[in-house]
Amino acid sequence: MAGYKGHIAGSLLFCGLLYLFPFWQPLSLTGKTICVLLAVFFGLWPDVDTKSKGQYLFLLCVLIADVVLIYREDYKRAAYLGLLIILPIMARHRGWTHSAPAMILVPFGLYLAAFQYYQGSPLDLLPYFLASLLGYASHLVLDRFKF
Ligand SMILES: [Zn+2]
Repeated sequence: MAGYKGHIAGSLLFCGLLYLFPFWQPLSLTGKTICVLLAVFFGLWPDVDTKSKGQYLFLLCVLIADVVLIYREDYKRAAYLGLLIILPIMARHRGWTHSAPAMILVPFGLYLAAFQYYQGSPLDLLPYFLASLLGYASHLVLDRFKF
């Protein structure tokens, strides 16, 4: 079983696959950095169902997002975010957060949420979705093969 350092290394390795996609080269340095950070975040995220670095990072991100939403007086979204955060924490370890459907649905939910705020084409956000997907996949692969 990989620890958080192993999952970070694995997500960075999987993130390297983004070089194979044509959208990678024209992406700005900021965009590439965000892709790498998303891959690492989702490389740790499935362990949100147990006391881990992934859980700490997730809770920290949600806390920051919730404070921003409350500051912007967007109480409805803050309430939904607070509700959604409970789901993975109540799950058993290596339950649904370690499943293939979750690997697709969780990053896709974030993709849809980001698209609500973004005014451009949905294709512009595709690199970030794929980076999230690759990071998530790296976690499942490492856990499956008990690296
Ligand atoms: Zn895991």
